Amino acid sequence: MLSETPSGRRRSKPPWWLRHRFAVQVLSLVFANSYILRAWKGFCYPVLNCWSCPAANFACPLGVLQNAASNAGYTLSGSGIRGLWAAIPVYTVGTLLLFSGLFGRMMCGWLCPFGFLQDLIGRLRKKKLLIRPAWSYVRYGVLVALVLVVPYYTHVPWFSKLCPMGALQGGLLQPLLNPDLRPMMHEWWWLKQGILLVTVVAMIFWRRPFCAVICPLGAIFSLCSRISAWEIRWDESKCVDCMLCVKRCPQGLDPRREVGGHRCVACLECQKCCPYDAIYSAPRWSPVRVREQESAGQATDHE
Ligand code: SF4
Ligand code: SF4
Ligand code: SF4
Repeated sequence: MLSETPSGRRRSKPPWWLRHRFAVQVLSLVFANSYILRAWKGFCYPVLNCWSCPAANFACPLGVLQNAASNAGYTLSGSGIRGLWAAIPVYTVGTLLLFSGLFGRMMCGWLCPFGFLQDLIGRLRKKKLLIRPAWSYVRYGVLVALVLVVPYYTHVPWFSKLCPMGALQGGLLQPLLNPDLRPMMHEWWWLKQGILLVTVVAMIFWRRPFCAVICPLGAIFSLCSRISAWEIRWDESKCVDCMLCVKRCPQGLDPRREVGGHRCVACLECQKCCPYDAIYSAPRWSPVRVREQESAGQATDHE
């Protein structure tokens, strides 16, 4: 049984909103796919949610980036700085920078429908296989290769052509609702469905495998989370190595070393479960909490 904290104080109550991650994920799924806002498809929602889903309300940021890269060759040719400006999808890049600059990777832990799907399917099997940390660097390669460089040279949005979320939301739902599309289901359609099937099976055996190894959008968020305004911290002076957070982390990380790192999806499950308040999130500019400050506060209380 867990005793009181090392300082002899009961833990402070975690913020109320930490208890509602599941509800936020459901709301975000509905918000992204409620059909009624589909006139907003020109806007980006900073999560992996396929634009071609019949119910999707927003554009997918990865789709926009790839289309910009595919067309950049034409836009750039001979138009100088104006061409360069026209080649950059300023609105989408700005949206991604704004959200990840403020919240780091919280879109992954709290908003992304494909992350949510992986959480749900992952519940089918409790015991999970390990994903070696080195595999998480593959995401940066996918970002550079399939989202930027190869689309630039081939004028084809290659990541979207292989994306399992596209296979699910566009590839399955569109022909289901529109029989006229079914004759178009040829080899490539089957390849995408095969990728989706492999991804879904992988979700049962590994923790969020697509987020951990493949997702280029998560890679962008990981890069920005290093400087985001909202930061997750581990306070070594309060930690008693009870290992609760290690058991609870849905990504299989050791939050004492990796919370807020590039593999962390910022779900804040470790903050919610830590009985000693050793993990907390706060604005980056706020002072670091240490036990000495707490002790000083206690001393004043007793005077
Ligand atoms: S890393 Fe996972 S949760 Fe984050 S955007 Fe990609 S699919 Fe969504
Ligand atoms: S940070 Fe983790 S190991 Fe340390 S006290 Fe909190 S739950 Fe226990
Ligand atoms: S380290 Fe904490 S915030 Fe990061 S994925 Fe694990 S439980 Fe979530």
